[in-house]
Amino acid sequence: MKKVRLGSTDIEVTPIGLGVLTIGNTQLDLDLEAGADIVRYAYDRGIRFFDTAQYYKTYSYMRQAFKDIDMSKGSPDRPVIASKCLDCSYEEMEYAINECLKELETDYIDIFLLHEVREDPDWDMRRGAWECLKDYKEKGVVGAIGVSTHHLDVVQKMASVPQCDVVFPLINYAGLGIRKGNGPGTAEEMAKAISDCLSAGQGVFAMKAFGGGNLSENYIKALDYVKSTGVHSIMVGMGKREEVDRLIDYAEGRLDPAYRPDVSHKRIHVDQGDCEGCGNCITRCPNKAIFRNGSGLADIDYDKCLTCGYCAPVCPVRAIIMW
Ligand code: SF4
Ligand code: SF4
Repeated sequence: MKKVRLGSTDIEVTPIGLGVLTIGNTQLDLDLEAGADIVRYAYDRGIRFFDTAQYYKTYSYMRQAFKDIDMSKGSPDRPVIASKCLDCSYEEMEYAINECLKELETDYIDIFLLHEVREDPDWDMRRGAWECLKDYKEKGVVGAIGVSTHHLDVVQKMASVPQCDVVFPLINYAGLGIRKGNGPGTAEEMAKAISDCLSAGQGVFAMKAFGGGNLSENYIKALDYVKSTGVHSIMVGMGKREEVDRLIDYAEGRLDPAYRPDVSHKRIHVDQGDCEGCGNCITRCPNKAIFRNGSGLADIDYDKCLTCGYCAPVCPVRAIIMW
């Protein structure tokens, strides 16, 4: 697959990438061999860009998938890997980078990000972690640094942060999950913010083209829209070999225009018998898709839920499940 340069970095990526979140314990929870098989299948079919995170707990799948590939810096066979960390302090980010290096048995990570940056106070709170990213880039351990975010105001802000090499925003044609301050933003506003980052020479790769499965029925329209924003790559979570095949067909212009995928995707549920109403999931959900129902327990707003699964690990009683 033809690669593209990620903005002004010297990193070249495939125009589609595999989001590894889907195979991990917040979503499909595949066993090691099955999950590694998806990652390796994508690699063998030509995908060379993979997104993971400390929070996803998916490094083991990648280590297994790439066990016979030279993952050292400069190796021509190694795929581009992006990882990220939710924490705020220098020390926490340093721990996350070193954990990633160790888990992936490498001496270099192509891209490391502040994970899920919210509005401005969040950016300010994470100065320590940002300083750490800058130091590790300076040392040559990390190739490029930046942020992942659902917030268009953060994307706008990053366009004028010269040390920010890459931005990983959420965008889809329906605007599902796009945040602006404390409210929703639109696809048009996010597209404009992305355009500003591209003009500033930043690398941009996009998430949630299908709005967490809600737009999958319009598969080609969803991907065409995100592509039209000019992003360098589109990261898609996939849990089956057939899904990898379809995405590659799309990227290589071979997909039947009449293609309609099976949209019987999984949904997240709160077991009302187990929920204790602690509210952890409400705070954790980046899309404000969980609310307290009349019984004081957590419930899901399916118009807002992007099936990211981020809420499940913070539930102390495992009341949040996906099926
Ligand atoms: S409720 Fe929120 S955190 Fe949970 S899967 Fe949906 S969007 Fe993600
Ligand atoms: S984190 Fe679990 S127990 Fe707490 S409110 Fe959410 S579903 Fe209920």
